[in-house]
Amino acid sequence: MMDERRRSHYLAAMGVTLWTLRDVQDRPALAGTVALEATYMPGSPARLRGEPGPDAMMPPVDPPGVPVAAETPPPEKTGVSDPAQMDWDQLEAAVAGCRACGLCDTRTNTVFGDGNRRARLMVIGEAPGADEDRAGVPFVGRAGQLLNRMLAAIGYPRESVYIANVLKCRPPGNRDPRPEESLRCQGFLARQVQLIRPGAILAVGRIAAQHLLQTDESVGRLRGRWLELGPDRIPVRVTYHPAYLLRSPEQKAKVWDDLTLVRRRLDASSG
Ligand code: SF4
Repeated sequence: MMDERRRSHYLAAMGVTLWTLRDVQDRPALAGTVALEATYMPGSPARLRGEPGPDAMMPPVDPPGVPVAAETPPPEKTGVSDPAQMDWDQLEAAVAGCRACGLCDTRTNTVFGDGNRRARLMVIGEAPGADEDRAGVPFVGRAGQLLNRMLAAIGYPRESVYIANVLKCRPPGNRDPRPEESLRCQGFLARQVQLIRPGAILAVGRIAAQHLLQTDESVGRLRGRWLELGPDRIPVRVTYHPAYLLRSPEQKAKVWDDLTLVRRRLDASSG
């Protein structure tokens, strides 16, 4: 349970001086776990099979007819063609040499992922920006620093979590990833999730949430409920991207709600 000292620390880290903590247990939208059945496998898009509530199932979403696995990692570089079969070294080499979509022509560096490969918490964002493209590391720059402070405030400093993006290469001008780019790249992220098998995933921002959950719902609608990803039913919490928080600091209290619930979930599952 978060205490007042930790809350104050978080508020200071986030630059929030005045707000009122709501009891999430009293909020109907947050009171229960939303049962979604999603399958997110390398080489195929995530498939959302459920709608919030155990009795309101959606039909499966058919994956677009884009060949993904066959085009993703170059076999001659790794000796393994399917990301689902790769170990960490093979996967990292496959990403570094990948030319499966046009972003390979404009990137400076691929951005594989960063952090603890045995993490209990995995953070998934959208795509590298200019700073990340230069550094080859996800979530650097001002948004990355804010994310670091947010994570530290709930007792999960950056080095304890694993951070990755949906796309491993920067879209020019920081435009949104195109569907075909996400499709061609998704096998890498799926394998990272498989290898780590985190206790929870924090999806930050609209693009990451919509890609993982194969939905076009807004972050505002996806927040406030637990979702589940893949055959391992990894709990997923959606929250706002730290870059958005830099522009809209009034949303920081909502992110605190989200992070608090992630922390509680991880605490409960480690007991
Ligand atoms: S974004 Fe992904 S699929 Fe496209 S070139 Fe980079 S690693 Fe390959």
